[in-house]
Amino acid sequence: MSVDLHVHTTASDGSKEPKEVVRQAALLGLRAVAITDHDTVRGVEEGLSFGTAYSVEVVPGVEINTDFNAREAHVLGYYVDFKNQAFLERLNSLANARTIRIEKMVARLQSIGLPITMADVLREAGDGTLGRPHVAASLVRLGIVASADEAFERFIGRNRPGYVPRSKFAPQEAVELILEAGGVPVLAHPGTVGDDRIIECLMEAGLKGLEVYHPDHDEKMVEHYLAIARSLELLVTGGSDYHGRGYHACLGGVTVPYSVVKALQQARQV
Ligand code: AMP
Ligand code: ZN
Ligand code: FE
Ligand code: FE
Repeated sequence: MSVDLHVHTTASDGSKEPKEVVRQAALLGLRAVAITDHDTVRGVEEGLSFGTAYSVEVVPGVEINTDFNAREAHVLGYYVDFKNQAFLERLNSLANARTIRIEKMVARLQSIGLPITMADVLREAGDGTLGRPHVAASLVRLGIVASADEAFERFIGRNRPGYVPRSKFAPQEAVELILEAGGVPVLAHPGTVGDDRIIECLMEAGLKGLEVYHPDHDEKMVEHYLAIARSLELLVTGGSDYHGRGYHACLGGVTVPYSVVKALQQARQV
């Protein structure tokens, strides 16, 4: 039985509600699914209650987006205590920083003549934590670009005219935050970071695993990170990074065996 350990919901920039994600996971025959929204655990409780209803094990999680030497680095946290007040407050401040950043990006896009407003972006986000994919979706809806990819390519990717860097948050801090919340920190899609020095650097902070299996990893990258994980004795995880909205893979598009869930549970206890 397989599990998908990287899934977004409407709590951040996914297109399906936690309830719907869990229902679909059940239909696909997945034994477990981890809800890993960007900088929020708001979807976890709903996921857990429908997990019980649909007999799918829901792993509480989070994905914290950070920067490592001007590159994007995401840290997954499994089994974080999603009721821990200090943790929730930190996530809240990250979510507020997201709103401010997106406001600045919208202002930049306006300054180059694009007819986009904050209201357009908020409409795409519903009550999810804001992210660039919501800006991309607005640009598509407004007919300014044909696809989200084009939006990143032309306007909101790094060094594009609408891009604003996030406020400084180091991946080491994300690892520490996850550990403090009782979770297991795992480096998400290391292949997209493009600098493997991050791995040992984060191990010093307490990193416990590498997301080896991800839609953005080709076979060579999988082999590469599998070897690194083995030599550094890191856990090997994987998932689809499901968002809906035409991003990445389908739910269950990348899976790992159920034994990974057990290993994460054990890692939490040491
Ligand atoms: P943010 O956290 O607001 O900076 O948004 C980052 C998210 O945007 C990532 O987690 C991806 O889901 C998505 N993303 C980043 N780059 C691209 C791209 N080139 N094309 C499509 N989606 C992207
Ligand atoms: Zn996302
Ligand atoms: Fe990510
Ligand atoms: Fe993700």
